Formats: sequence, C-alpha cells, structure tokens
Amino acid sequence: MAEYIYPWLIPYWQTLTHYLRQQRIPQAVLIAGRAGIGKRQLAECFAASLLCERLSGEGLACGHCHACVLRQASTHPDFIVLEPEAGKGLGIDSVRGLLAKMALKPQFEGQRVILIDAADKLNPAAANAFLKGLEEPGERTTIILVTDKPARLPMTIRSRCQQIQITQLDQAQIQTWLAQHQVMQADALLALANGSPLRALDYHEKNYLALAGQVFDEWLSLRRDPGQVNVVKIAENWLKHPVEPVILLDWMCLWLVRLLKLFYGEGFDSALQEIKSQLELAQLCRYYQSVLEGRQLLLTQCNQQLLLEKLLIEWSQLGVKHG
Ligand SMILES: [Zn+2]
Repeated sequence: MAEYIYPWLIPYWQTLTHYLRQQRIPQAVLIAGRAGIGKRQLAECFAASLLCERLSGEGLACGHCHACVLRQASTHPDFIVLEPEAGKGLGIDSVRGLLAKMALKPQFEGQRVILIDAADKLNPAAANAFLKGLEEPGERTTIILVTDKPARLPMTIRSRCQQIQITQLDQAQIQTWLAQHQVMQADALLALANGSPLRALDYHEKNYLALAGQVFDEWLSLRRDPGQVNVVKIAENWLKHPVEPVILLDWMCLWLVRLLKLFYGEGFDSALQEIKSQLELAQLCRYYQSVLEGRQLLLTQCNQQLLLEKLLIEWSQLGVKHG
C-alpha cells in the first residue's frame, strides 16, 4: 500500500523529506496545525519513510520492504505510537513505559520512530517526565509529536523540537480534492467544517449540511420566539441527531463568530443581522465564552441534556431585561 500525502500538505511534506535527503534527521519534530487537515497521516508517512529500507524518489516509503511490511502490520519493534484513549489524557504511566523502551537500543539497524499524537494531552507530570526522553532520545531515534493545540505544550518541549507549523493550506488544492470526492457545495461544507477538508468530506458523507441548516433554524427560533419554543424539547431533539454534541457546539461557535463579525462590519447575514440589533457586543462575547466552556465540559463526563438546556436558555434570554 503506497503512502498518500494530502495535496495541501505537499509543501510541508517537502520540508520533511528535505531532512531525509540531507541526512539531517531531527531528533524531534513537532507537527502543529488545526484539526482535520491530515497531520497524523503526514506524521505516519514521515515515520514510514524513516523506517523504510527502499525509499522512493519522492521520499515515500516503498510499502514492500521488511520494515514496511512490519509497520503495516503494526508489529515493527522500532515504531512506537503513543496516543490518548478517547476522552482521556496521556498520563505519567504511559510516558514511563515509553522511556523504558527508549532506554534500550533500537532492535533493527535503521531508525527508530516514536510518534506521539495529541501531544497536548500529556498531563503536566507526563510532560515533565517526557522531557528526559526528548533530551536523551537514544541512538537513531526520531520523536514526532502531533498536536492541534501547540500552545498547550510546555515551552521546554516545543523548544526542543523542529517545528512544522501548518498554517497555509492551498485552497485550490482543497477544492480540487473535494471535487474529486464528488463533494458538492464545497464552500458551505468547508465553512461548516471550519476550513478542514477532511471534516468537510466527512460532513458531506453524513449529510450534515442539511442537518446544520435545521439546527441553525431552531437556534434562531430561540431568539425570535422565545415564548413559543420549548428549550427542553429542542435540546432533546439535538441530542437525538446523528451528530456528536460537541460538533453541535462547534457549529454554534461558528455562528456566534459570524455574529461577532457583524459587530466589526464584516460579512453579511440577514438572519443574524436581526439578532445583532438585539444584543450588545459584551453580552455576546460572554455568551461565546460560555459556549466554549460548555464545549470543554462536553469532553468530560457531564449531563449533556442539562448542559445544552442551560446554553440554549442563556441564548434565548440574552439581552432580555429582567424585572
Ligand atoms: Zn519500505
């Protein structure tokens, strides 16, 4: 199986393969950029190239050598992946296990690769312990860290890595790629997916555009006719939709940002314009903060129904004077 580089990541891939060609492989690489753009796959491709015994001209792993076969079967002894379980952090125990492996020599003659996904999930104790591994990774070892929240990583870790910051995504490449995947309404999907092409494709396959339109209308109705709508019922319905509640809050954040932009004279949206006229900027900023905090809470254990109800009630009463 050939490795695949998403077209919008090619400039970053070239930076990585440049290290290979120059035989100047960093001890640690930090790949950072927003969610849903393919950072993990880029990291996996780089790992594959570091391990492969017969690299192609473009620097891609061959897919057939002994190292490639072992890696594809997830049995390569010198390829170690550390990633948090869903909803959990990366704790000290997993880092200790990693350091114990790093203290041994690589088993094969080639490079050893350690890939840490969602590296921002290292808790403080784990991050502190991991520093030792970064300072002394051992011979022929490359550590690849992946994160969409680099600011959450301690500076002591970031400063020890070669940083690949994925900031520029070639929009034309993204449009072409989405068209190749038969995605219609690419612009609307990309807006809903906060610019992430992989999420836009996922949303297309799940028909989220129509769903988001429905959710948006209900969200607006809470402002238009707060007396006529049943918040409890709306929250219940939202939780029955085939979409993660956290995505619903992501959408709310997008709409709120659109609303906030109107205050700065950016963009136009007649439905939101009407709501803007009822609100003050400071209230809206505070509410946006509440939604962000709610989003964080959703990632932990919480009563989703109550949380949604609270946010929707707050939304419907925003700017309404009591007493
Ligand atoms: Zn190979």
